[in-house]
Amino acid sequence: MMNKSGPTTVSVVVPVFNEEACLEELIERTIRVLDGLSDPSELVLVDDGSHDRSPDIIARAAEEHSGRVVGITFNRNYGQHRAVLAGLAEARGGIIVTLDADLQNPPEEIPKLVEKAREGYDVVGSVRLSRRDSGFRKLFSRMINQITARTTGIKMRDYGCMLRAYRRPVVDAILQCPERSTFIPVLANSFADRTAEVEVSHSERQSGESKYGLLKLVNLQFDLLSSMTTFPLRLLSLIGTVISVLGIGFGALILVLRLIQGAAWAAEGVFTLFAILFFFIGAQFIAMGLLGEYIGRIYLDVRGRPRYFVKERMGRSDINKPRPSKEVQI
Ligand code: UDP
Ligand code: MG
Repeated sequence: MMNKSGPTTVSVVVPVFNEEACLEELIERTIRVLDGLSDPSELVLVDDGSHDRSPDIIARAAEEHSGRVVGITFNRNYGQHRAVLAGLAEARGGIIVTLDADLQNPPEEIPKLVEKAREGYDVVGSVRLSRRDSGFRKLFSRMINQITARTTGIKMRDYGCMLRAYRRPVVDAILQCPERSTFIPVLANSFADRTAEVEVSHSERQSGESKYGLLKLVNLQFDLLSSMTTFPLRLLSLIGTVISVLGIGFGALILVLRLIQGAAWAAEGVFTLFAILFFFIGAQFIAMGLLGEYIGRIYLDVRGRPRYFVKERMGRSDINKPRPSKEVQI
C-alpha cells in the first residue's frame, strides 16, 4: 500500500519522570537498536519535571550524540501524556515510536513496530506478552481495555501499553488537538485508517516504582474514556429519562388509583403528595438529561479537534508534496 521512496526517519519518543536508575541503560540500548535500522533515526527524551538526575543524564546524552538524541525538559511535572505530546511535536520522523523509560518494554522490539508501520499501518499497537505487573493492575487494565474497545469501537487488545508506532499524518493530526486531558493511543486510533497490533515482551520494572498510584491510575482511565466519548454523560441522560418515565408513570398510576379507590386507599392525601413528588422528580431528571446533552456538545466543541481528517488527496499536480499540517485544522 504505502511504498515510500527514500528513507523514512524513525523517531523514538520517551517520557521520563524520575528514571535516573534506568535512563542510561535505556539510552544506550535504544541507540544501539536505532543504529541497526537501515533508515536515519533520532531519540527524543522528554523530562517531565524529574527531581533526580534524569535531566542531567538527558543533557549529557544530547551533547554526546548531538543531532541524534534530542532532549526537552519541563519546568514541572505535567504527566506522561503531555510529555509524549511534547516529544511528538519535536520529532521529525515519518514513523514515530513511543516507549516508556522504565525498560518494561525492551527497546529491542522497536524494529518490529517500525517494520509493521512500513507495511502501511497508521498505528501499530502492542500487546504485552506475559505481562509483569501486579494482579490488580492486570485486572484493572483488562476491564478498561474492554470498556474502551466497546465505547470507541476500535478493537485493540492492549491500550495501556505505550510501546507504539505512529505514522506522520496521525501524529500531525494528534498535534492539532488542543485539548488538555488526553490519552494518546485512543486519540491516535481515531485518526487511523489501518491499525495493527504486534506482540512484545514485557518485563518487570527494572528499578524505581510505577509512577502511577491508584488515584493517578483512575484519573488516567477517566482521561481515556472522556477523551473519546461523552458516553458517561449520555448514560446520565439515558438513566434520567428511564427514571423520569417510571416516576411519571407511577405518579399517574397513584392518581388514577386514588380516583378509583377513594381517599381512604390513598392514605388521606399522602399518596397524592407522592404522585406529585414523582412527577417533579421525573421532570428534574429529564432536565438534567437535557443539560447533559448540551454539556456533551459543549465538551466536544471546546476540545476543538479537527472536524475531519483527510487521508489522501487525488488529482492535483502537487499531489506528492506533503500535506501542510494546517490542513487538518479546517
Ligand atoms: N511518566 C512521566 N510523567 C509522569 C508519570 C510517568 O513522564 O507523571 C513516564 C515514566 O517515566 C515512564 C512512563 O511515563 O517512562 C510510564 O510510567 P510508569 O512506568 O511509572 O507507568 P506504568 O508502567 O506503571 O504504567
Ligand atoms: Mg512502567
